[in-house]
Amino acid sequence: MNDDIRIRLGLRPVINVSGTMTSLGASIVVPQAVEAVTAALPQFIEIGALQKLASRTISRLTGGEAGFVTASCAAAITLAVAGAMTGDDLAAIERLPQTDRLARDEVLIQAGHMVGYGSPVEQGVRLSGAKVVPVGQATSVMAYQMEGAITERTAAALFVVSHHTVQVGQMGLAEFVEVAHARGVPVIVDAASEYDLRRFLEAGADLVLYSSHKFLGGPTGGIVAGRRDLVRAAYFQNNGIGRGMKVGKEGIVGTIAALEAWEVRDHAGIRARESEALDVWQRTLADFAGVEAAIDPDPTDNPLDRLKVHVNPAEAHITAWDLADALASNGTHPVIVRDHEVEHGHFYLDPCNLHPGQAEIVAERLREELDIARRSNDIISSDFAARRKRRAINNWPD
Ligand SMILES: *Cc1c(COP(=O)(O)O)cnc(C)c1O
Repeated sequence: MNDDIRIRLGLRPVINVSGTMTSLGASIVVPQAVEAVTAALPQFIEIGALQKLASRTISRLTGGEAGFVTASCAAAITLAVAGAMTGDDLAAIERLPQTDRLARDEVLIQAGHMVGYGSPVEQGVRLSGAKVVPVGQATSVMAYQMEGAITERTAAALFVVSHHTVQVGQMGLAEFVEVAHARGVPVIVDAASEYDLRRFLEAGADLVLYSSHKFLGGPTGGIVAGRRDLVRAAYFQNNGIGRGMKVGKEGIVGTIAALEAWEVRDHAGIRARESEALDVWQRTLADFAGVEAAIDPDPTDNPLDRLKVHVNPAEAHITAWDLADALASNGTHPVIVRDHEVEHGHFYLDPCNLHPGQAEIVAERLREELDIARRSNDIISSDFAARRKRRAINNWPD
């Protein structure tokens, strides 16, 4: 029997150089979390006590007063907002998403932060019953606009940290916190894919939210950390709208184990291995005319570099998206690159989710596909709009 479960299931043994993507199973779960999940699954566990343990671990790592584990960071957004509206009023919690008897049900968000990570961030807010109040314009948000948007019904202000957000013209976290706190409005930071577990609370955020399954290498889950009263109010939503966002014992136990593993992880060693992968790819691509590869630091300052690969079709005889598609379609190990900007003629290679030996396979596959293109008389160039259509979710399950 093949020991790769993907082969046993008839699925493709993909190599992930795109990042921590939900569509690919997020990340490589660290062995400590795998072991903890395996040990927990057959046992009964008192969930309230387990979440108290999670709270202590989360506090230790984030510097927050308390914390808990939920189903995902998307769930954490909904629960955090709900808690900011209801406080610890259990009857109000059961009435959500109905908010008409609450004193506050508006949530501010900068216009350039209204992005999607697979679903709209503002939908995560609305799911609680809260009303979204956008602040400013997509590429320009000023403090006076935020001050003007705050009313006596403002329950919270949400700040999103992501490469998806507009990277110009937004208020920074310090100013955002200053304006919100001047009017007593709590700040919730969506830091789903950030490495730094302390910096946002240190910068004055009242709650910070992370994904367990991104850089932490935990099972699917979300983390809420910060001010004790807001964490409690968010946690109590598990008796209300949070039920449909339930995390199981495996998610909680696995998140605790991933956090503990993060504390002792060899971050420098991992960074060095990632650099080696970038080196191997850069050297491979240097042999091809029309292909430029440059190291690209993470846009939200995570300690992670990617390789930005720009493809000039006239010289390389292939477009960036056709190269991405060829890598993803052909070969015994399909290679999935980071292609969210591919219409601009480039994609990225992300080294943070590689198993040993895979960097070399990726280099080999790049060489194979670029060699085919070089020998081709025509430029391999498919219609980009048709590609978008083909890849849309509504083609499932066919
Ligand atoms: C991934 C992501 C989310 C969603 O996180 P999940 O834990 O997968 O639900 C939310 N916000 C940002 C900025 C993200 O990158």
